[in-house]
Amino acid sequence: MCPASHINDLLKEPVLDLDVEVRGWVHRTRSSGKIVFDVLRDATGIIQVTIKKGNLPDMEFESAQMSHIESSVIVRGRMFKDDRAPGGYEIRASSFTLVGTSAPYPITEYQSEELLLDNRHLWIRSREQTAIMKVKASLMKGARDWLNSNEFYEVTPPIFTQNACEGGVTLFKLKYFDDQAFLSQSAQMYLEALIFSLEKVYAITPSFRAEKSRTTRHLTEFWHLELEEAWTDSKLNMEIQENLVSAMVAKAVEERSEELKLLGRDVADLKEIVPPFKRVTYAQMIDRLKQKEFEIEWGADLGAAEERAVTEDEKVPTFVTNFPRECKAFYMKEDPDDPKTVKCADLLAPEGYGEIIGGSERETDLAKLLERLEANNIPTEAYQWYLDLRKFGSVPHSGFGLGVERVVRWVCKLEHIRDAVPFPRTVARVYP
Ligand code: ATP
Ligand code: MG
Repeated sequence: MCPASHINDLLKEPVLDLDVEVRGWVHRTRSSGKIVFDVLRDATGIIQVTIKKGNLPDMEFESAQMSHIESSVIVRGRMFKDDRAPGGYEIRASSFTLVGTSAPYPITEYQSEELLLDNRHLWIRSREQTAIMKVKASLMKGARDWLNSNEFYEVTPPIFTQNACEGGVTLFKLKYFDDQAFLSQSAQMYLEALIFSLEKVYAITPSFRAEKSRTTRHLTEFWHLELEEAWTDSKLNMEIQENLVSAMVAKAVEERSEELKLLGRDVADLKEIVPPFKRVTYAQMIDRLKQKEFEIEWGADLGAAEERAVTEDEKVPTFVTNFPRECKAFYMKEDPDDPKTVKCADLLAPEGYGEIIGGSERETDLAKLLERLEANNIPTEAYQWYLDLRKFGSVPHSGFGLGVERVVRWVCKLEHIRDAVPFPRTVARVYP
């Protein structure tokens, strides 16, 4: 018996002189008495199959007639060129095995967003969702390849924590035996501790934030790629980011141009994502926004509308540096050249997709850190271990956190971030 092939392998290198076998799911089906026309789907692609009565045992023909959408099947037969078929070929079946029957499929062509979200466990089989997941896998592979070849160690920080590095309001609290703990919002502090043994570290973990606002770019559980490096200032930190993001995008272009096209993304846009990215200061951003008639003054944080307005015509990402220190977390280093600001950078995606990375050089001055904790009304008990890092051989260091789904949303041109993750968790949904 011939071994089963993947559909795309057959479409790339058609086998015309021998029987082929494919395994997959019925994507579309119609029948006209003596012929059943199926489109089969596997993890790699789709192919047309015609099952004609008389070319195979009657029982198998009847199985084909009974196979509804999403039934799992194994088909054997010959490949023929057919310009009307998707991919240019069809298989004429000489054998048809129904492996798993399918109940009437709840998803038809026009469905409400809610129904698709309720049936997410089935909707992830759609071609669009499949394409997004493949692009995401390539982006993550591109990241790991770049990080590993640049000698960063992948480390495994905890998810249970008592830190609240990104602020108390978005913490998920939980009972931890007789104590209280939180789900991690960021691994940053643990990565800072790890640079003293490994110098260059990164982690890819879920982060949890109880974001109550319904936006198109916030999940309550997202995948966070965080990096921390010893002996690195804010300038070098940005260079690492632009190289990393470019390598991620390049891998997606290399491996997933078909899927990107299906999602409506022109890969020519992505080929422009190469270092250096643009750099502007927060103060310059405020001036630009004022020119665009925004009522904004120095000191206000940039929201989604502001980020969109300044990047919608851009082709490459933009770093916004030197935010006022009141806008940012306590651990960011004061800029000695402009002490009302900190040595930070947010990286904004082009085309108005908004922030994809938040990063900074970290404050190493213990007195300043204590001052900032107090100014932010943060009790220091839970941070004693973190403050210790400044007492035992402190070194200049920097790092950042990249939101994986934010990058996927931009690269795949998605309206909403929930489509960048197979099972989205938002304020309104944790099922399925
Ligand atoms: P924003 O201002 O957009 O809410 P943030 O400033 O809270 O983001 P950081 O604390 O800097 O974000 O987190 C680092 C990165 O993690 C962000 O740049 C973003 O890419 C991603 N991120 C943060 N919060 C979320 C979220 N709720 N859902 C998805 N990604 C997120
Ligand atoms: Mg940020």
